[in-house]
Amino acid sequence: MKLIFLGPPGAGKGTQAERIQKAHGLVQLSTGDMLRAAVKAGTEVGKVAEKLMADGQLVPDEVVVGIIADRSQEADCANGYILDGFPRNVAQAEALDKMLAARGESLDSVLELKVDDKILLARIETRAAETEGGPRADDNADALKKRLDVYHAQTAPLVDYYTGKGLLKSVDGMKSMDEVTADIEAVLAL
Ligand code: ADP
Repeated sequence: MKLIFLGPPGAGKGTQAERIQKAHGLVQLSTGDMLRAAVKAGTEVGKVAEKLMADGQLVPDEVVVGIIADRSQEADCANGYILDGFPRNVAQAEALDKMLAARGESLDSVLELKVDDKILLARIETRAAETEGGPRADDNADALKKRLDVYHAQTAPLVDYYTGKGLLKSVDGMKSMDEVTADIEAVLAL
């Protein structure tokens, strides 16, 4: 099974993807986590990504497309995976379509976590206050707001993109974490 989890920063997408992968034998492929590991390790990719990430901007499409193309072919992905944080714009979605088509594969579903913008901004402020100086250079209020802007401008159009392909399933992300997990399992028939 191949799934995409879509949702703005602070929507709980990473947490939900982690829960679902564990319970259903899938692998969570988080481009954010992979890029942070590359920054930490000081690789070429990490050098390209570091400043862009700290500013809340996207890293170049070819970088993340390459990362996903490689990682999704490793043995542990044979049973399926959840893409978390990828694709993040239409160009990445088209690259993913091409990659899967070349492999004779396809996506099963795209799960959208719907979250109210006002509440998201409040969560962002709380998260920034809690994590300032923590492991993520982009968890400060400015970078988080920038990430939310980038989400609306570049990632939100994917809702229409995947609706058009008949793949989109939406879940209310404002409920408790356990309720959201249960709703995701129900809507994906897991
Ligand atoms: P969040 O969903 O909370 O914004 P992520 O961990 O998914 O956090 O992403 C953190 C940062 O990593 C992004 O702001 C961006 O700079 C970079 N990044 C992650 N995934 C992608 C992607 N698919 N394309 C471009 N940049 C990405």
